[in-house]
Amino acid sequence: MEIRELNEIWSNFLPVIEEECTPVAFNTWIKTLVPISCDNGLLVLKTTNEINKKFIYKRYEELIKQTFKIITGIYPELKIVVESQQEEESSKRPEPQNKYDKYTFDNFIVGGSNQMAQAVCVAVADEPEDVQYNPIFIYGGVGLGKTHLIHAIKNYINENNPDVKIALVTSENFTNELVDSIRENRSSEFREKYRNIDVLLIDDIQFIAGKKSIEEEFFNTFNVLHESNKQIVITSDRPPEEIKTLEERLISRFRWGLQCDIQPPDFDTKLAILKNKATEMNLELDDQIFYRICESLNSNIRELEGALNKIMAYKSLVNREITIELAEEALKEFGPKDTADITPEYIIEQCSKAFGVPTAELYSDNRKKEVSGARKTTMFIIREILGMSFPKIGALFGKDHSTAMYAIKSVENQISADPALKMDIREIIKNIKNENN
Ligand code: ADP
Ligand code: MG
Repeated sequence: MEIRELNEIWSNFLPVIEEECTPVAFNTWIKTLVPISCDNGLLVLKTTNEINKKFIYKRYEELIKQTFKIITGIYPELKIVVESQQEEESSKRPEPQNKYDKYTFDNFIVGGSNQMAQAVCVAVADEPEDVQYNPIFIYGGVGLGKTHLIHAIKNYINENNPDVKIALVTSENFTNELVDSIRENRSSEFREKYRNIDVLLIDDIQFIAGKKSIEEEFFNTFNVLHESNKQIVITSDRPPEEIKTLEERLISRFRWGLQCDIQPPDFDTKLAILKNKATEMNLELDDQIFYRICESLNSNIRELEGALNKIMAYKSLVNREITIELAEEALKEFGPKDTADITPEYIIEQCSKAFGVPTAELYSDNRKKEVSGARKTTMFIIREILGMSFPKIGALFGKDHSTAMYAIKSVENQISADPALKMDIREIIKNIKNENN
């Protein structure tokens, strides 16, 4: 699984295990552990020395495994490494390829939303020296493929036309390079570099806006290249006139060429992109799951990928086929982020109405079946909507984390045995979310 996922699990893990150890033990042995990896059910943690390692195996192995199971549902194998061992292991792994090398035209899925931008970029890549429109200005929202396209141009030219000199930079890196070169008295070197290329590709030009001296330098570079008929391709998250503090003279330069937008993909394009990514990742999924991802996420393709990564992580963790339920579990955090205004107290109130149990009873210790059932379901719903930790949910009701955890697990079990109940709970959740929109 990706380290990001593991870190997230770890941040839920710590408060739960903290309650099971003395503060000294927690601070000495547990808090200092660093999660390294978790694949195929093997959890690898790093500690600082051999003594700690032995001690943790002896005293905390079982607790760590159990707690990990509480958080993830998986009872892992545990491997503890000390600093130097871990370096050895990681140096055995193959060097990760530069991710931008993978951005090619071959793996760029074309649909109505991006076909114009794609065609323009292919034309540039194919004949970089035959400049038709200059500059080419491509704009569109986050995660819609601008960086992918601009790198595809570079990769294509490098492969087919290696003599063509290309500079591809983000406007941030352009800025940093310029600032460094001035500080180190190398600004003529900087100019030399950027004015003697055949193709200039600038990603995310919007970040240059408002920095007067940088805009000035960029303006001059732009003019030199433009006059000598060198191709310039620029991307941005919005059209030039909407980049607020961008100098008028740059805006008017950008209008000289061709502007081209990328729109959010429609459902079919999204689906095609997703299936393509899954194939690249060697991840086989049911069509139903692909539909579910496309429906539940908006158009940011990076988020779609995030969802796939998360499913992939689940897969390697549980080491079994992904069902729609597992996928939903993995996708929980990706749903529309419309819960900002919903408080747990509000959810408790709504549940009280839905179950016909007064809030005071929900907060109480009353163990009567209807009351405790409603309380458990309320805890489950709070976790579903707000993703709160077990300790926090427990605290709302004056209970400890394990009570909350078992309550929520028991509702999960009931739901998987009773589809009607599942529907009812979904309905309640939907209503709580909708009333807040
Ligand atoms: P932007 O620069 O517009 O914010 P990116 O180019 O970084 O977006 O794209 C985000 C992710 O989505 C990248 O991993 C990219 O490969 C992928 N992506 C975007 N559009 C497509 C597409 N049409 N086909 C395949 N992958 C895409
Ligand atoms: Mg980008």
